[in-house]
Amino acid sequence: MTKIYPKNAAQLRKMREAGRIVAEVLEIVKNESVPGVKTIKLDRIAEAAIKERGGKPAFKGYRGFPASICASINSEVVHGIPGARKLRNGDILSIDVGVFWKGFAGDAAITFGIGRCNDAAMALMRKTEDALKAALRVVRPGVRVSEISQAVEQVALKGKYGLVKKYTGHGIGKEMHEPPQIPNYVSTGLLKKTPRLPEGATIAIEPMLTECGGDVEVLSDGWTVVTADRKLASHVEHTVAVGPEGPVLMTVL
Ligand code: MG
Repeated sequence: MTKIYPKNAAQLRKMREAGRIVAEVLEIVKNESVPGVKTIKLDRIAEAAIKERGGKPAFKGYRGFPASICASINSEVVHGIPGARKLRNGDILSIDVGVFWKGFAGDAAITFGIGRCNDAAMALMRKTEDALKAALRVVRPGVRVSEISQAVEQVALKGKYGLVKKYTGHGIGKEMHEPPQIPNYVSTGLLKKTPRLPEGATIAIEPMLTECGGDVEVLSDGWTVVTADRKLASHVEHTVAVGPEGPVLMTVL
């Protein structure tokens, strides 16, 4: 049985504050992401910005993850460890930020181009954002998890993009990862079996699309997830609450 923890108004206010910090940090990091910058520098900037705002980096130390952000470049899908690698013109960069504020978590990611990207990369990033928007549109009290998954999958399939199935979105609240899992695809017959989300449920939806196939592997650092075919990947994420009339975004300014 999947236990879903709906949040009350006071808890949602804390999640909104955590989410606001996440959004601010993502904007700061994006503005610093120019050719020649090392991703470790972005991590230091992000960590300082989180702490300045009274937050705690949620990723640092999580199962031993060494940094405050994930920085995943080009064929890296998620969980890239910031380091000495310098950003180059034409790269695409996914930044994932998690923050705790007064005991509640916010989690979001963006993917954007460094300098000038080619059209294929731009189209992939746009399509990933479209998939997230489509998923957000179906969020309402009583929505089944599989409706969200299906919304993501339909956008990816229509664009003939690969969909990463091995990693999923998730419930979020006092923990970074709570039930239920929010997959980016549906299996046949699954539509009716997945849980319904009550008002007050809070989830992170995070589509991951690729230029070719959806198969991935983990590099020898134990974290960095890359596309098996080393084609480009794009990843976006928002933390969202199920509001009485629809989605209420937590990870916005
Ligand atoms: Mg997440």
